[in-house]
Amino acid sequence: MIYISPDSVAERFMRYVQIDTQSDPESHSHPTTEKQKDLSRLLFRELQAMGITRSMTDDYGYVYATIPANTSKTNVPAVCFCAHVDTAPDCSGYEVKPILHRYYDGKDIVLPDDPSQVLRPEVSPYLMEHLNSGVITASGLTLLGADDKSGVAAIMEAALFFMQHPEVKHGEIKLLFTPDEEVGKGTAKINMEQLGAQFGYTLDGGEAGSLEDETFSADGATLIIEGVIVHPGYAKNKLVNALKVAGAVLDALPKGEWSPETTEGREGFVHPVSVSGIAERAEIHFIVRDFTDEALELHHQRLRELAAQVVARFPGARMEYKSAEQYRNMKKILDRHPQVVAYAEEAIRRAGLTVKKESIRGGTDGSRLSYMGLPCPNIFTGMQNIHSKLEWIGTRDMAKAAETIVHLSVIWEENS
Ligand SMILES: [Zn+2]
Repeated sequence: MIYISPDSVAERFMRYVQIDTQSDPESHSHPTTEKQKDLSRLLFRELQAMGITRSMTDDYGYVYATIPANTSKTNVPAVCFCAHVDTAPDCSGYEVKPILHRYYDGKDIVLPDDPSQVLRPEVSPYLMEHLNSGVITASGLTLLGADDKSGVAAIMEAALFFMQHPEVKHGEIKLLFTPDEEVGKGTAKINMEQLGAQFGYTLDGGEAGSLEDETFSADGATLIIEGVIVHPGYAKNKLVNALKVAGAVLDALPKGEWSPETTEGREGFVHPVSVSGIAERAEIHFIVRDFTDEALELHHQRLRELAAQVVARFPGARMEYKSAEQYRNMKKILDRHPQVVAYAEEAIRRAGLTVKKESIRGGTDGSRLSYMGLPCPNIFTGMQNIHSKLEWIGTRDMAKAAETIVHLSVIWEENS
C-alpha cells in the first residue's frame, strides 16, 4: 500500500518555505542569490540523514542525489524527479510565515498580517475541494513559496518513503533540486553527467492530477529600421525618422488579436517587449510564441510582411528582420518516448486521481531539460495563485504528488 501522510509532507513544506530563496533576474552570478543555497544545504543534510549517502550539493546551489535500485532487473532506466528551490522575484519571500488551516471550513480566509488580503472560495473555487482537509497560506505580507517548495517537499517525502519501504521495488531514482528557475536560469549550470538520468519529471504544476507535456515554442525577433538622416534645418523632403517608422510599425499591429492580451489556450501571439533607438536607427524587439514550428514560422512571415508594408510608406527607410530561437515545445521530444507521459498518467490514476492533460503557455525547466537529453514532462503539486500573497496549497495534493512519484517509480520497474 502506497500512502503518504498529508500532515508529514505539510510539516516538511512549512519548514522549507520559511527559508528565503528568492532569485534575482538582475544578477549575473550562479546562483543569482547566495541565500538559495541555505535550502540546498538543508536538503543535502536531510538526504544524508535519511541514509541517501549518494548525494551532494555544489557551488551553484544544485542538489543531486541517487536512491540506488532495489530490483533484480538490470534494465530499469534511471528516472529523475526535479523541483526548483527558488521563489519568484515578483513578490517578497522574506520571513514567510506559513499558516496551516488544518480543517478548512469553506469560509473566506483573511490573512492576519494584512487583512486586505482575503482568499475567497468564489474567486478560488478549487478551495472547496479541500473542505475539512489541510490548506496552507502565507500570512499576508509575502508569497507562500508553494512554487516550487511543494515540489521539493513532495520529492523529499517520496524519498523518505522509499528509504522506509525497501519492499517497494524500483530502479535507480535520481533527485535534482535546481536554483534560479524563476529567472530562466534553472538549467544554466546543470551537470547532466553528474545527474545520470535517462528520463525525468519536474514537480512544478497546479491542480491535483494535472500533467503538462506541452509548452510553448519560443522565438525572439528583432526589427531594425534605418532612417535617412539629414541636418534637421535642411531636411525638408529628405529626412526619414526611424523612431517614427518604429512607432508606425507598432501602431499597425492588430488590436483585437495576435497579442498576449487577446489570446489564450492554444493560440499563439507576437508581443513587442522593447524599443530602442535614435532618429537614425531604431530596433523593436519582439517575442513570438506558439505550439508548433510551423505556426511560429507563419507568425514571423506575417510580422515581416506587416513591417515591410509600413516601412514602404517612408521612402528611403530600410529594414532588416532577424529571428532567434529561444526554446522549443517539449512535446516534440516527448512524442519520441511516449512511455514517459503514459506512465505518468498511470501513476496519477493509481494515486486515485483523474488525469488532466494541460499545455503550458510558457517554458519550463522541463522544456530545456527535454532538449538537453532528458525528456521531462511536468507533474502537479497542487500550488495555486502562485507568485502572489494569496498563494495557497492543499496538503492532500502535496501528499498525492509524492504518491504519484512512488507509483511512477514502481511502474517504470514493472514495465522494464
Ligand atoms: Zn515553478
